[in-house]
Amino acid sequence: MTLVLMGEHIDPAELSQISDQGYTNLLLITTALGASVNVVLSIGKIIAGRVWHSQAVFADGIHSLSDLVSDIGKKYIQHSTSLAPL
Ligand SMILES: [Zn+2]
Repeated sequence: MTLVLMGEHIDPAELSQISDQGYTNLLLITTALGASVNVVLSIGKIIAGRVWHSQAVFADGIHSLSDLVSDIGKKYIQHSTSLAPL
């Protein structure tokens, strides 16, 4: 079985031998993927909550939006911790 990640075929057995840079890239890719899903979820839930007058769905949209803010913070921390020490 192979994983297809950003057009690259990766054998799961090779994941244990992945470089630090490769691992950092994987983290960035999965974070970006999560953030993209949250953008779609937030917008969809906020609109649906307004259209069908559901405060619960609307509030969940706001929650997804706050998840997005934490994703951005996570991405920044992942970036700054992957830099070489001064
Ligand atoms: Zn959440």
